Amino acid sequence: MSSFPQSDIIVVGAGFYGLTIAHLAAKRLGLRVLVLDRRDHTGGNAHSYTDADTGIEVHQYGSHLFHCNSGDVWDFLNGFTPFTDYRHHVQTRYKGRIYPMPINLGTICDFFGRAFTPDEARALIAEQSAEIKTVDATNLEEKAISLIGRPLYEAFIRGYTAKQWQTDPRALPADIITRLPVRFTFDARYFNDRYEGLPSEGYYTIFKRMVDHPNIEVRLKTDYFAVRDQLPPAKLTLYTGAIDRYFDYRLGALSWRTLDFERAVMPTGDYQGCSVMNEADENIPYTRTHEYRHLHPERDYQRERTIIFREYSRFAGREDEPYYPVNTSADKTLFGAYRALAMQEKTVLFGGRLGSYKYLDMHQAIGAAFKRFEQQIAPYFTNHVPLDLADNI
Ligand code: FAD
Ligand code: UDP
Repeated sequence: MSSFPQSDIIVVGAGFYGLTIAHLAAKRLGLRVLVLDRRDHTGGNAHSYTDADTGIEVHQYGSHLFHCNSGDVWDFLNGFTPFTDYRHHVQTRYKGRIYPMPINLGTICDFFGRAFTPDEARALIAEQSAEIKTVDATNLEEKAISLIGRPLYEAFIRGYTAKQWQTDPRALPADIITRLPVRFTFDARYFNDRYEGLPSEGYYTIFKRMVDHPNIEVRLKTDYFAVRDQLPPAKLTLYTGAIDRYFDYRLGALSWRTLDFERAVMPTGDYQGCSVMNEADENIPYTRTHEYRHLHPERDYQRERTIIFREYSRFAGREDEPYYPVNTSADKTLFGAYRALAMQEKTVLFGGRLGSYKYLDMHQAIGAAFKRFEQQIAPYFTNHVPLDLADNI
């Protein structure tokens, strides 16, 4: 007899995407949901825990900053824990000096070593970026130069991007860089969104509460592919793992970046004065350092020690955790072919960052899960509306 319970939906992956759907399906539709994750925790890459040495909440996969414009997503998450009013700021080190990131009037004044008014800074950047028009930019390098000009690109973007992606910036999609605002004011906030903050009670509390429902059963340390044959049939499987893995890489492997984190406990109450310090120089092998205590200035953490994570990026092999889709044009073609295969699966939906091979932020993963639930899953279970497989990813 199988050790897995009978369920209506099997959710593969306990990240934000999978858990949002699991929660809605159990709570709103009363469905029985079985959630599987191969890791030993829920939350996917947004997982956090309290570090035993320092008592500081650590984001195991790098700092996760929550921000969004959607009131629905914000209200949904605030239903699990209140959020703080944390506003994210990043510093970047270049040739022994520290600058505010994203590029703003402060960065421009510091970098060029004089006081600029907003109009003067605009005029300077217009001159330095004249070689490429933003509308003509087709890749990351062109887009960046068209927005900030070559000198700032070469200082703050080229080296960091080379470490982060190890891919010619002319082969990377332009939208990677569009994630970063460029401002001609001294506003140095990392994000522009209306809502921003961090879960007061920790990310781990959100995930615990999302699955706290009698209809939801979670099995951790369980790889879907290892147990697939033992699962009682369900009406629907929601797969949020890597799409190329689902099809056993039969068309080839999509390229992903993975990360290695180097943990250190430092004998000081404050190591770097901010939560994230980027390293723009290419000869520094890591991209950034996270000092987690700064994510929660409202908490009364001890001051004797602090915990930092240094982040290193490299290409993912098949045994590594895939984190960032690289998305070159060859990847896009291959993904299109996997998408066509996905459309032939009759009762499997694909989603999330790994399943849809998209660089989704948390709010986008939750927003996509809402849409999937409202447009496909609820109609399928309540009114027997067939799944729209043309919209499978
Ligand atoms: P994931 O969180 O990746 O969850 C997928 C889950 O599926 C994983 O737990 C995995 O173990 C499981 N799984 C995969 N294959 C199998 C299998 N075969 N069997 C069982 N389980 C399986 N977003 C922000 O909004 N702000 C940030 O500051 C931010 N920072 C980030 C920093 C880093 C370093 C990374 C990598 C991501 C960051 N993100 C950030 C993005 C955020 O992590 C994602 O948006 C979010 O995790 C997406 O949720 P998901 O459910 O799609 O995927
Ligand atoms: N980037 C950069 N220098 C920086 C910060 C970001 O060149 O100091 C580029 C880099 O290519 C990165 C992209 O901008 O991949 C998006 O940055 P973001 O901070 O959004 O990346 P994430 O937090 O998702 O890793």
